Amino acid sequence: MQSAKKDIQLFVNNCFEPSSSGQTFSSINPATEEEIAEISLADAGDVERAVLAARAAFDEGPWPRMRGSERAEYLLAMADAIEENQEILGLLECMDTGLPLATTRAGHVVRGVQNFRYFAAEIERIGGEAIPLDNAYLHVTSREPIGVVAIITPWNAPLGLATSSLAAALACGNTCVIKPSELSPITTSELAKIVEALELPPGVVNVVHGPGRPTGEALASHPGVDAISFTGSSPTGRRLMELASRDLKRFVGELGGNAPTIIFADADLEQALDATLLTAFANNGEACVAGSRLLVERSLYPTFVERFVERVQGIVVGDPLAERTEVGPVISAAHRSRLSGLITEACDLGAKLRCGGAPPGELATGFYLQPTVVADVPLHARLSREEVMGPVVGISSFEDEADAVRRANDTIFGLAAYVWSGNSNRALGVAQQLRTGTVWVNASITRDIRVPFGGFKQSGVGRIGGRFSIDAFTEVKNTCIAVRPYPLRRFGAREPRKPPHV
Ligand code: NAD
Repeated sequence: MQSAKKDIQLFVNNCFEPSSSGQTFSSINPATEEEIAEISLADAGDVERAVLAARAAFDEGPWPRMRGSERAEYLLAMADAIEENQEILGLLECMDTGLPLATTRAGHVVRGVQNFRYFAAEIERIGGEAIPLDNAYLHVTSREPIGVVAIITPWNAPLGLATSSLAAALACGNTCVIKPSELSPITTSELAKIVEALELPPGVVNVVHGPGRPTGEALASHPGVDAISFTGSSPTGRRLMELASRDLKRFVGELGGNAPTIIFADADLEQALDATLLTAFANNGEACVAGSRLLVERSLYPTFVERFVERVQGIVVGDPLAERTEVGPVISAAHRSRLSGLITEACDLGAKLRCGGAPPGELATGFYLQPTVVADVPLHARLSREEVMGPVVGISSFEDEADAVRRANDTIFGLAAYVWSGNSNRALGVAQQLRTGTVWVNASITRDIRVPFGGFKQSGVGRIGGRFSIDAFTEVKNTCIAVRPYPLRRFGAREPRKPPHV
């Protein structure tokens, strides 16, 4: 058991070092409210050191110049090391986030392993095209790294999200500076320990810690950074695009969501219930693709609400370290207050609290909130319109297909949606009309690094996953080669050139 408070430092050029100001901040275990780590807070000067290290590693170091197969060896070693440390990484991520241990250990850590293995293999598939033109030129495209990539991640799945960007960016030959969320920085620091132990070339991976201001902004606005890979909320994404625009940096944004789940009366009710509970409450409901907004066809509505509430009341809430726990505490007291505000406002607007809505009486310590269901939520309530990111579900009914689609699309977000119907034509027809980057049809939440992922509307900019990540982290170069002699306009010459040049 990790009980001693951890001392976490910045990681620059393969060395752990304190911040130059000596300033620190704390990470709190959401289940115990105890301070579990003291972390060096990077100011603009510290960020500058990290960016310069990444810059030098890119401009002069071996990483972008080595054979792809050699980079793949490093990535496979990263995967193996994460796998060997699965227990401890799962435990630390659980203590840092409040997510159930079963989720962090078998979900996020395993995803970290898969991300490195997948992109190690993907290196072999990074290729180009030959485009012959006019019998005179051969154009050859190649993929080159962009340069220094800033990776900024949120608190809700730190290791899985940091590694999906890091593995892809490294595979493509970039060097990186990662800034994890100040709320859950521990496992990203553990990743740095693995980089140090495996002796990746210095400066290839650097980690800075701190909040959005000053640390995140210093990183995003540094002219030595060529691209920003951001996962987080839409408002922060907007701010980062502003900062990126100053030097026209590449920006990839995986942003917020407000995923609707449309359930038609002809759906397989048992399967739809199981899947809907999973999408709403997995990861404590703290997931960008969480199905926190249920839209149920009117004829099924009373039965569905009753059955759903009954199941939600059976969810095991408690210590995230306990194997039985299905929902742990939310990330912070502030986040729990925000969720309470969404519930109260919906009820003030006429919605009905069907279960939960308060911290469980028996769990006085920790940022717990009972899994909550609010029914009859009006469209204009914040619970319908805003991102939830917690164990709170709002349900309302719809009349017909057109009404379902209208309600589902009535949001600034467009990350994900779920459709349940026994009629596949109807389900696919509805899926086609939904303005989201992913639609799951009669399927529950599944994320796989091989498929494209990203948002429509204010849920994202660009796509990651599979070859889309390779697109995101490379520049395309076209090289034009003349394949036979050809005539040229002759500036300053009065006579045409004589054959045999043509
Ligand atoms: P957030 O936007 O508050 O913070 C995300 C990261 O950005 C943190 O590291 C934070 O320190 C940093 N940051 C904040 N302000 C900044 C600024 N001005 N300049 C630079 N960096 C700044 O998000 P959060 O609360 O940590 O995470 C939850 C959000 O992440 C939700 O909106 C969720 O939907 C989203 N998310 C999206 C995906 C996806 O793939 N689309 C995945 C997971 C989480």
